[in-house]
Amino acid sequence: LDQVSTVNPTVARSIVQELADQRSNVKLIASENFSSLAVQLAQGNLFTDKYAEGAPGHRFYAGCDNVDTVEAHAADLAKQLFGAEHAYVQPHSGIDANLVAFLSILATRVENGIIERFGRKNASALTDSEWAELRSSVTNQKLLGMDYYSGGHLTHGYRFNVSARLFDARSYTVDPETKLLDLDAVRARVHEVKPLILLAGYSAYTRLIDFAALRAIADEVGAVLMVDMAHFAGLVAGKVMTGDHDPVAHAHVVTSTTHKTLRGPRGGMVLCTSEFAEAVDKGCPTVLGGPLPHAIAAKAVAFTEALSPSFASYATRIVENARTLADALQQRKVEVLTGGTDNHIVLVDVAASYGLTGRQAESALRSVGLTLNRNSLPFDANGPWYTSGLRLGTPAVTTLGMGAEQVTEIADVIATVLAAVEPGNGPDGSPSKAKFTLDEAVAAEARSRTSDL
Ligand code: PLP
Repeated sequence: LDQVSTVNPTVARSIVQELADQRSNVKLIASENFSSLAVQLAQGNLFTDKYAEGAPGHRFYAGCDNVDTVEAHAADLAKQLFGAEHAYVQPHSGIDANLVAFLSILATRVENGIIERFGRKNASALTDSEWAELRSSVTNQKLLGMDYYSGGHLTHGYRFNVSARLFDARSYTVDPETKLLDLDAVRARVHEVKPLILLAGYSAYTRLIDFAALRAIADEVGAVLMVDMAHFAGLVAGKVMTGDHDPVAHAHVVTSTTHKTLRGPRGGMVLCTSEFAEAVDKGCPTVLGGPLPHAIAAKAVAFTEALSPSFASYATRIVENARTLADALQQRKVEVLTGGTDNHIVLVDVAASYGLTGRQAESALRSVGLTLNRNSLPFDANGPWYTSGLRLGTPAVTTLGMGAEQVTEIADVIATVLAAVEPGNGPDGSPSKAKFTLDEAVAAEARSRTSDL
């Protein structure tokens, strides 16, 4: 850090302050974690100085032997970890992974047939009119993903996202009453839309998904089943989600981030059946520029960590802690969506429980040292900025070794603070502050427990 400080003290100070922030606040953001020192060191080194466009053994630059070794190794580890036929570890992020997946599905299932029909070898040999026909056939394809308010990600077809510009994007929702995915309703929607891609996966959903059933539904209309497991990849790697709930066993293409429950460096990857492998490996240059060899090295380290038996026990504890948190909140009369959780996420309806917006609740809890994020709930009347919900996650606190006792204490603090929030002067009454500090909240909770006795 001395070296950084000498060159740029602002950056050095921010790094130290970020360390202080992450050490002194409780991290309950469902998409965050604490990567190991081994992961961080594998990422911070001179691999960052190397260009390696292409794929292992097929580069557009000289001197890529060491990048070849690391990338092929990381892909092998990913295949082993998830039981995948093929792995592509270059995507820089989850969004990049989804874009690579979209373009490879379009190439494999749509473009290659058109190019063949024209009797050409590849797209670069097409005439202008052939190219125009290929382009229009691509932009008319349908993507059917889970609605943003139901918990789907922006890249699953949200109107203002690139996914909705690339595709004729349609959505399916959770059931308005139960807030659960109803597979009969999804089947009806799939038959109505007849998409090229049926996309499953989420940023905010708390129950298991039957991917075997979704694959059968996709097959009924000849759709490609794509699953975005960015959030729950660690639970798949840790064998918490197995059988019908294992996306890799049933989907044609699976995308992921590497930094959430999987606890690796910030990044993405694509797993797929051999049908899509050739097109997926063209992620660079189709979507991506030069790979990040330092990030790929860190992914290999994280995959090795995730292959150890202790990671499986970590994944199990993540879910146990989330269930304990959901139960403890409900005992304190907090409304938890779907009545609990099967994964690392707990969704809380703060509008129903306390008459607050998610934004008010988020800032009140941050003021007592709990870092989490507000989240839209299904059919949310407060929209995506203010929201009615909070999304809590247990991956990071579980990495710190917290268990039932600490998680129950966190529920105590959340319930105590939210019950005491005073709306401020913003449009939704934001910003709000809790009436007290974390220590005072804990003391208040202890007092109320003593008075219960
Ligand atoms: N997919 C899902 C389901 C996500 O939740 C996220 C991020 O929150 C992403 C993709 C995008 O990942 P990234 O931020 O690495 O681009």
